[in-house]
Amino acid sequence: MKKRCVAIVLSAGQGKRMGTSIQKQYIELCGKPIICYCLEAFEKSEIIDDVIMVAGAGQEDYVTEEIVNKYHFGKVRAVIPGGKERYDSVWNGLKAIRDGMAGEEAKEGYVYIHDGARPFVDEQIIKRGYACVKANRACVAGVPSKDTVKIVDENQFAVNTPVRKYVWIVQTPQVFETALIRHAYFKLMENEENETGITDDAMVVERMENCAVKLVEGSYENIKITTPEDLILAESLIKKMKLKNLKKVLTIMYHYDIIYLVADTQQQLNKCGEVSKWS
Ligand code: C5P
Repeated sequence: MKKRCVAIVLSAGQGKRMGTSIQKQYIELCGKPIICYCLEAFEKSEIIDDVIMVAGAGQEDYVTEEIVNKYHFGKVRAVIPGGKERYDSVWNGLKAIRDGMAGEEAKEGYVYIHDGARPFVDEQIIKRGYACVKANRACVAGVPSKDTVKIVDENQFAVNTPVRKYVWIVQTPQVFETALIRHAYFKLMENEENETGITDDAMVVERMENCAVKLVEGSYENIKITTPEDLILAESLIKKMKLKNLKKVLTIMYHYDIIYLVADTQQQLNKCGEVSKWS
């Protein structure tokens, strides 16, 4: 029988590298806030039953009104405040599950921890995560590195070059048995020294539990929006996804622009892949 799956969606970061006054997860991307994309994927998913949203402290009402209610995300069971570091926010999410905010069954199921700044998580990734966590108790989405990676010292001299076929770039969702990740985080939060350098949830399980974490295929499109260039890439990815759904699209060069025309109509696609009258 399928176990209950809760997604903890993290949205409490400051997003300083984006350089905008509004936090990056609320910036509009092709007509709606970035955070809505992953919430839509979880809302539509056959696997995810409940969502706990972790918002910046003091922004819970804004998120409830402007995101959850406005876009009708019916699986969101609670909007709770995050903490100073990402792992503090995750810990708050895990405590919400412990306290029954996602129902009793959720305490014995699986939890998907996801960065709200990754809009392109999809049902295939969610399903692969479910199959993998069932078999291995702990898994994280990722992709093999396309580049060679160097470990450097504090003066930026290369000290080590890992064999590329063993280097993966880690993404979210990171998926765990709920009891396992709760226990790992409980141990982490007991002692401040443990917290040094924690940047993802897999690390918490690696450090605190005797359980290997498996890498499961994510996708190269499952990017995290961090800097303004990522928004341009995200728009192109949305356009590409929409193009895939249209049967006949003609590509023409006009001056230095590429224009996409929908065949047999007088329509063209805008930069987000929306169809409009050819101008
Ligand atoms: O800062 P970074 O891009 O690594 O953050 C990854 C995710 O974690 C983002 O979705 C961000 O909103 C979230 N986060 C959080 N609480 C923090 C820091 C980051 O929920 N204190």
